Amino acid sequence: MEPNDTGMRDCVVVGGGAAGTSAALTLARARHEVLVVDAGQQSNLAATGIRSLVGHDGQAPADYYAAARSELLAYPSADFHRGTVTQGVREEDGGFSFVLDDGRSERARTVVLAPGVEYRHPELPGMAERWGRSMFHCPFCHGWEVRDQPLGVLATGAEGVRGSLNLRAWTDRVTLLTNGGELTDDQRDELAAGGVDVDERSISGFDGPGAELKAAVFTDGAELPIAGLLVKTQLRQRSSLAGDLGASLTEPDERLSVEAIRVDPMGSTGIPGLYAAGDAATSVPPSMAAALASGYLAGGSAAVHLATGY
Ligand SMILES: Cc1cc2nc3c(=O)[nH]c(=O)nc-3n(C[C@H](O)[C@H](O)[C@H](O)COP(=O)(O)OP(=O)(O)OC[C@H]3O[C@@H](n4cnc5c(N)ncnc54)[C@H](O)[C@@H]3O)c2cc1C
Repeated sequence: MEPNDTGMRDCVVVGGGAAGTSAALTLARARHEVLVVDAGQQSNLAATGIRSLVGHDGQAPADYYAAARSELLAYPSADFHRGTVTQGVREEDGGFSFVLDDGRSERARTVVLAPGVEYRHPELPGMAERWGRSMFHCPFCHGWEVRDQPLGVLATGAEGVRGSLNLRAWTDRVTLLTNGGELTDDQRDELAAGGVDVDERSISGFDGPGAELKAAVFTDGAELPIAGLLVKTQLRQRSSLAGDLGASLTEPDERLSVEAIRVDPMGSTGIPGLYAAGDAATSVPPSMAAALASGYLAGGSAAVHLATGY
């Protein structure tokens, strides 16, 4: 549906992943005019299947997003545009305006930011083509597929210890690869007691056919056979849009390495009409289930704001 006579949408949702489509569905079912602008780069597209999302376990991410979009567009007040929001401002009248990468402009009374995040990890040779397959940030999403095989953890410090001990749930052969980072004696003792091997040598890359992983290769030429690698990852905002609209960010959390848009439990940023959901606004480990839930709440909050002013 096109915007009304004033050129104002009820809501623009930035991002059409789990969080954005969930928010938009809630708004559309409340009969609000909602436009989803989506660049089509959902973070789990590299994975062969979505895991731990009950009712969809193993479904190809692209199929899931196509179904979500088609369910959304069955509602007459919903609209979808493939593109990127490049600029956004909060107007003096309290509304929001946006410029898209194709030059199109949009205005809206409310906004749900659901742009996902950048999953930052070390860029060693052999990682890019295996990301989301044999190399992953979350054992709950990928651990089952590599269970009972020798696995590595690329991390150091307390996070390396915690990640390695946790990965023992999927296999009894776990090696913490610190890539030259050093551990304390206490950390080495804790890992040894938990049945985790440690290799502190520098890594030159990873080897294996296609997206499969067969070995970590060290700079001294030696190889360690592994079939999967858990990688310590940092979550960072994909753009400055949230700040440009007046939202604030949390300090990067040391344990989770998350830098999130600050929201209350209902997805409100504290700026009237501005909501956020999904990975971009999470301060817990990211997941599809959490993104769907937070999108639903943020979309509902925007709908209530549109209907009541609260
Ligand atoms: C490799 C990998 C595998 C994963 N596997 C699983 C799994 O099996 N199970 C699970 O529960 N979780 C998994 N996750 C986590 C899960 O994918 C995320 O938590 C979830 O996708 C977050 O949803 P989101 O809607 O917040 O963000 P995203 O899915 O990242 O969607 C955000 C969308 O917004 C778009 N966008 C960004 N900026 C703009 C802009 N300025 N204008 C327009 N559009 C924009 C992006 O292109 C993207 O399409 C995985 C993550 C990764 C990285």
